Amino acid sequence: MRDGKFGFGLIGASTISRERMVGAMNGSGVALPVAVFSRDLARGRTFAAEMGIPKAYDRLDEMLADPEVDGVYVASTNERHHREVLACAAAGRHVLCDKPLAMSLAEAEDMVRACEAAGVVFATNHHMRCGAHHIAMREIVRSGRLGDLVVIRVVHGALLPAHLQTWRINDPATGAGAIMDLAVHDADIVRFLTGDEIVEISAMSKNSGMGTDKIEDTALAIFRTAGGTLGHIHNVFNTPFNRGSIEIHGTKGSLYARDNMGQSPEGTVHLRDAEGLHEIPLEHEDLYVRMVRSVVAAARGEGEAACTGQDGLRSLAVALAMLESAASGRAVPVPASQVSSQPGGSV
Ligand code: NDP
Repeated sequence: MRDGKFGFGLIGASTISRERMVGAMNGSGVALPVAVFSRDLARGRTFAAEMGIPKAYDRLDEMLADPEVDGVYVASTNERHHREVLACAAAGRHVLCDKPLAMSLAEAEDMVRACEAAGVVFATNHHMRCGAHHIAMREIVRSGRLGDLVVIRVVHGALLPAHLQTWRINDPATGAGAIMDLAVHDADIVRFLTGDEIVEISAMSKNSGMGTDKIEDTALAIFRTAGGTLGHIHNVFNTPFNRGSIEIHGTKGSLYARDNMGQSPEGTVHLRDAEGLHEIPLEHEDLYVRMVRSVVAAARGEGEAACTGQDGLRSLAVALAMLESAASGRAVPVPASQVSSQPGGSV
């Protein structure tokens, strides 16, 4: 720890670190970004200087040996996550890894096991779990006010900003496409809200004009959970006025979240039931700050991270099944994991 604060080393001079995570660490009150690893030392040094990070490394083993690095935030392109998380675990460093955890379930299971064996925290940056709207919705579902859940709908679309129209839409080797990028969040939020597992999924996808036509920028899926709820996921990179929403409909009530699928702490939740339409009061807080605090607390032995590695493994399983279904035109069962987890989460 550094001045009592948890020191994060960052893997990758990435946009998400620049736009969200460095600020979240600094704003958390419990953590600091202390170093960045970049494959390109000049880029790493520029990033460090611009973001107020004291050190830049171009060798990961050197950053992992730095005694000020208590844990690592992995924010590289997706195909790097597996080997970088294994290196963090081998060095005994706690890990917050961005999504999707890996390119395959075997890789993700490997990462979960390596962190377990090393006795380090392994968290997944599914920040949506940390939104006040989603925490409030989960409480309402748990309270029984919706009755039995019947259907759920997650709309997750926007315009992929111009500065992010790079590997996500052009480079299949990175785990590109709207499904790996967005559906993992949706699968995770469905698990979080319902406490239920998606067990079967059927998808269609297309390219609607962004990037190479070999990579989907648009995808829809319907799914079934273990508990019998049916659902719908909608992912798209190419719709500038789409702000996202979730609907959960039960036998006694319906929940509507609007403008809730972004990165900022905003959006509304309404409950409609036999008594009418109720706006749910929300106290919004930066979602990434909440995530960082939960990871630091877990590293200090105070509970679990808001989203664990096992949770990231489950969301990846759904996204991979969705990809397979879109490619084959058939419904695909979501394989059970060798590594267990509870869907409800600890936020
Ligand atoms: P970026 O494209 O910004 O960065 C990815 C990596 O590319 C960096 O780590 C960096 O690695 C390298 N890089 C950066 N700039 C350049 C450049 N000019 N030329 C060549 N390489 C460069 O990715 P994102 O920040 O958008 O995404 C990183 C990860 O975070 C992904 O896994 C993504 O899915 C996830 N993500 C999660 C979000 C969330 O809300 N949870 C939101 C956005 C992204 P290096 O410095 O080592 O070369």
